[in-house]
Amino acid sequence: MKFVEIMGVPFLHTDLSSFVSTLDDDIRQQKKAFVITANPEIVMKAREDMKFMELIRQATYVTADGIGIVKAAQLLNKPLPGRVTGYDTMISLLQLANKKKYRVFLLGAKPETLQKAKATIEKDYPDVEIVGTQDGYFNWDDNDIAERIKKAKPDITFVALGVPRQEKWISENISYCNSGIFIGVGGSFDVIAGTVQRAPLFWQKLNLEWLYRLLKQPSRWRRMLALPRFAWQILKLKARNST
Ligand code: UDP
Repeated sequence: MKFVEIMGVPFLHTDLSSFVSTLDDDIRQQKKAFVITANPEIVMKAREDMKFMELIRQATYVTADGIGIVKAAQLLNKPLPGRVTGYDTMISLLQLANKKKYRVFLLGAKPETLQKAKATIEKDYPDVEIVGTQDGYFNWDDNDIAERIKKAKPDITFVALGVPRQEKWISENISYCNSGIFIGVGGSFDVIAGTVQRAPLFWQKLNLEWLYRLLKQPSRWRRMLALPRFAWQILKLKARNST
């Protein structure tokens, strides 16, 4: 497997369909995998917080979530094949799970969103077996959730607690479970439930999904400051590399 390192974060050199095949192989071999889809915000957080960097480096796979990472890789002359976002990976995994009748656990989001997302998955992916759900507003020290996941034996656990909560939860709990894919998927349950709309394709094609999200949820502006800071660091690295 080939990796491209950006500011200490090792990104898997893959596109969405090969990545999903890799995960399918892991499921069939009953391997355990911790997946992080990392955007510039995560890379900046890791750069500033050593503990978080260590956690990221524990992941089995880190993929490029967002055009910012893909562009950065290109600028640093180590191009990546494309974006592998949390939402797209979740949808592809649901399609795979539908085909192969895989078992799925949904962890995260508000109770109402979770129920809506579950209902949509049951309708659109009837052969997926949902073996358990848990909303994302629980007591952190509640080990019962990991215990329930262990007993339910899901092939895939989608963890939608937002960054960095979902990555922390997975790193603290994955060792309790024997196998399965654990992937942090951010606001994906909200999109599946229809509570939050994803950017129309037009915006996505122009690589402006981030702007659409900002306009829809202006409260995200503070978090989005990570983007220009990330761009600045990449430009500095590029300048250093070319001297
Ligand atoms: N969330 C949760 N528990 C919490 C905080 C957040 O389950 O304690 C959920 C929230 O309801 C939403 C998701 O986590 O469904 C975070 O979505 P966001 O779009 O902020 O994800 P990010 O951009 O951080 O990946």
